[in-house]
Amino acid sequence: MRREPACGIPCQIRFAPREVLLQCEPGAFVMSEPLFNRIAVIGLGLIGGSFAAAARKHGLAGSIVAGSRSARTLEQGIALGVVDEGSQDLAEAVKGADLVFVSTPVSAMGKVLSALKPGLSRTAIITDGGSVKGNVITAAHASLGEHYSRFVPGHPIAGKEKSGVGAADADLYRDHRVILTPTEATDPAATARVRAIWTAMGAEVLQMAPDYHDQVLAETSHLPHLLAFSLVDTLARQGDSTEIFRYAAGGFRDFTRIASSDPVMWHDIFRENKAALLQSLDLFSDGIARFRQAVSDDDSDALMGIMTRANTARAHFMAMNERTSYTRAHHSGDNTTMTDSTILQSKSANPTFVVTPGGRLTGRVRVPGDKSMSHRSIMLGSLAEGVTQVEGFLEGEDALATLQAFRDMGVVIEGPHNGQVTIHGVGLHGLKAPTKPLYMGNSGTSMRLLTGLLAGQAFDVELTGDASLSKRPMERVASPLREMGAQISTGNEGRPPVRIRGGQPLKGIHYDLPMASAQVKSAVLLGGLYAEGDTSVTEPAPTRDHTERMLGGFGYEVRREGATSALTGGGTLAACKLEVPADISSAAFFLVGASIAADSELTLPHVGINPTRTGVIDILKLMGADIRLENQRDAGGEPVADLVVKAAPLKGIEIPQELVPLAIDEFPAIFIAAACAEGDTVLRGAEELRVKESDRIQVMADGLAALGVDHEVFEDGIRISGGSFGGGEIQSHGDHRIAMSFAMASLRATGPITINDCANVATSFPGFAQLAAHAGLNLEVK
Ligand code: NAP
Repeated sequence: MRREPACGIPCQIRFAPREVLLQCEPGAFVMSEPLFNRIAVIGLGLIGGSFAAAARKHGLAGSIVAGSRSARTLEQGIALGVVDEGSQDLAEAVKGADLVFVSTPVSAMGKVLSALKPGLSRTAIITDGGSVKGNVITAAHASLGEHYSRFVPGHPIAGKEKSGVGAADADLYRDHRVILTPTEATDPAATARVRAIWTAMGAEVLQMAPDYHDQVLAETSHLPHLLAFSLVDTLARQGDSTEIFRYAAGGFRDFTRIASSDPVMWHDIFRENKAALLQSLDLFSDGIARFRQAVSDDDSDALMGIMTRANTARAHFMAMNERTSYTRAHHSGDNTTMTDSTILQSKSANPTFVVTPGGRLTGRVRVPGDKSMSHRSIMLGSLAEGVTQVEGFLEGEDALATLQAFRDMGVVIEGPHNGQVTIHGVGLHGLKAPTKPLYMGNSGTSMRLLTGLLAGQAFDVELTGDASLSKRPMERVASPLREMGAQISTGNEGRPPVRIRGGQPLKGIHYDLPMASAQVKSAVLLGGLYAEGDTSVTEPAPTRDHTERMLGGFGYEVRREGATSALTGGGTLAACKLEVPADISSAAFFLVGASIAADSELTLPHVGINPTRTGVIDILKLMGADIRLENQRDAGGEPVADLVVKAAPLKGIEIPQELVPLAIDEFPAIFIAAACAEGDTVLRGAEELRVKESDRIQVMADGLAALGVDHEVFEDGIRISGGSFGGGEIQSHGDHRIAMSFAMASLRATGPITINDCANVATSFPGFAQLAAHAGLNLEVK
């Protein structure tokens, strides 16, 4: 069956994808060479039709043929221009095809593959779009014989409630995920070619094991469909169902939308993925029983616990689905339409900052709450007795990871709403075993401090993180905690995941910190809360003391003498009210920006000026910066002030050793100040910088090199010769502080600076782009 030319142009030309596109859809993206000569789509419904239409739109096939049991479907497909020709004989349909895409119901695949096999060419690649993988692979193994090694099982995570080729959509897969589940027998070259065609259709291709696929899909797709069908059916069975549906509001419509999906297909999926579906249904039944119990017992804490956890978890996966940062989903709910205040946020998962030269910083800029204190407020509030109220909490990804971890351990936490968090503390021994590993995202602070805090719990726990966190050293905290009696194992080369065995009695120790690290000091002290006797830590140089101060704020005595902090285990924490000051690490970018940009004058209100954190102010002042501390006061044990900074000529200095640990997070910004200063700035003794979110010495050096700034790298530091510099392209390697520092460099650059990989800016400074642009930076987010 072939389509007759309706336009007077000969058939081959009319239906060759390139020509169709060039004539009919000017501007559409077309491959210069098709990826496949001939694609056969077997089962021309929504999924198959959309595959054919996308292949056509992007010029991915020389010709496209359909195989279907129904002549009507083939006629419709040809009439719609989705395929060139078709056959009801499946072996005939696949003849000469170098790619065969099977998209029939899963239960029919065995039969369909057997039917088409006689027509397969020796090198044809076969793939499918079925929603269940285990059974399809079994069927393919039984049916395909020698062709089985070129069978690449796949599943596009895209669809509609409509079926049939009439619903085909060339853009169905664009910006959607496709999961490939090759087996050990699958030829990697075949997998690569299937990956290439999905990618060319605009999809993001993931790869996973078939069993895992079926389990994940059972939980995230098959179970929700089953519940939607079940809810509507349950209500419809009631005598007064018409009345019920008449008053059903938007919530009901939203929840049951997927019950409009094709019953035949879902019947097929439920049966084909029976084992995994039953497993997730059992899990859900337990969950609903817990919910029922909480309602029946009027257990307000349990109810709030379930719902606040669910709320945050949903924000998290909405963010992942929308390929945006956690924080954005958190603030905007489901709605991807940005409000005016968020226009500077990119729709991209990993935005790029483009900053053009010039500008000056003026006005008042309130930077977000302190990250270190936000983390600790959740930790100590959760372990306190009573309800702790926090204000000024930083709603960044790192602190939210800590918050989620405590929710996962059964703590009821309300918020954050505009920086306000209410924590229903469970006491030092009230945490519950989480049901899965605690995911710390990108946050080293969360992982290291929690390792200490969880070392003395009664339950086992595993801490995991994202790719970048998974490369960071964890032995530095595990090792002293082991000395206390903890059983902790770390992954390869002492990196995450961190596994902690519960029920180990801890004993207080004295620990001489081998490096100046507030995280290690805090982990040991937090472990000490659970230890018998005294735990003390001596640091080689002063580091942040927020843990000690905040423990004091929660009524837990910490004895401090010189470089040593000590506490006695077995006490209690009392809930309190906390106001988190603005983060001096976030203020640092603006301190540098306003110092280097002529005519700048900026006020940064309510910034924490804890003496263990003000190294950046001291260093910038030594370089000649004009920074004034006004309105100094105390906020919950932490000193705060309004910082006023004016542009000033900077000069290079040798950074005093004693200031290095006090400015450790601020060095990327200080390096930019150094690049704008007259003469050389030399930093030594800062090897710690190499194990931050990135190797900050090397990554900053690479960035400075890209702008043409003269510098010399040392193992423990850098020399930077100030002067004028140009624009260039910076790789931030996902390090938020590197990205924000180079954004400020544009104030003095002679050309535009493009900064890649800026998604993690949200980890410490949500809203940075808006605030910086508001203050006068020429910044665009792409
Ligand atoms: P669809 O629109 O109903 O199309 C199914 C196609 O398969 C039709 O062309 C139909 O042919 C053919 N077919 C049905 N029963 C058959 C049988 N027993 N033997 C041979 N051919 C048969 O369904 P779809 O939504 O495209 O789904 C196709 C596949 O994609 C399924 O495996 C499904 O699990 C998977 N999938 C679906 C979605 C979704 O949201 N819809 C998403 C991802 C994956 P006729 O037209 O001749 O009847």
